[in-house]
Amino acid sequence: MRKRLRLGIMGGTFDPIHYGHLVTADEALVQFNLDRVLFMPTGEPARKTHRQVTSAEHRYLMTVIATASHPDFAVSRLEVDRPGVTYTVDTMLELRSIHGPDAELFFITGADAVLDILTWKDSHRLADVCTLIAATRPGHDLAEFSRHAAEAGLAVEVMEVPALAISSTDIRERMASRRPVRYLLPEAVATYAEKNALYRGGL
Ligand code: ATP
Ligand code: MG
Repeated sequence: MRKRLRLGIMGGTFDPIHYGHLVTADEALVQFNLDRVLFMPTGEPARKTHRQVTSAEHRYLMTVIATASHPDFAVSRLEVDRPGVTYTVDTMLELRSIHGPDAELFFITGADAVLDILTWKDSHRLADVCTLIAATRPGHDLAEFSRHAAEAGLAVEVMEVPALAISSTDIRERMASRRPVRYLLPEAVATYAEKNALYRGGL
């Protein structure tokens, strides 16, 4: 009998990708015995409308650069290439049809993002297609989080990751004001962003 594929999916804007994302994905790989983690940069933003998001192509390329050296990390263009607004549940259904009914899908997010998901109208459809893994992130209360998940009637796996208070927002602010980012994200990603003047003009 063929072994069932255990596929982790790390969705994000990745504007830019940083060590918080990479550590979380690596930890999920080990803690949930995944075969690989597929990074899924978002296409046109559905929910982040409050600021200009860097073009999908730049965000996709930064994600490729950041993950290239990890043997079990890969990057998907599914959302980047899909025109219009994309819903996570549709992406999961597409992955399900690509990998077949036996594949086990794990959607990895920070605990903050899972709290958002619980408010989506299709969160139950999402939870039907995949297992949700919530990574603890500094500043987010796990107890409150578990209560919300239970209230929503959703099964969510919780994963402890080393506390990394890194965010893309902070990195964009730092790059705009020329403060150091060296140990927050892979150097090649910072160089790519710098070379393409992605975060020079502020947010
Ligand atoms: P922004 O500041 O622009 O919101 P971000 O740093 O939160 O960016 P996203 O691309 O929004 O990054 O996040 C993608 C996923 O990674 C989300 O599920 C988010 O919760 C998770 N994540 C982001 N930063 C961390 C971190 N430092 N540790 C663990 N998970 C993180
Ligand atoms: Mg975020």
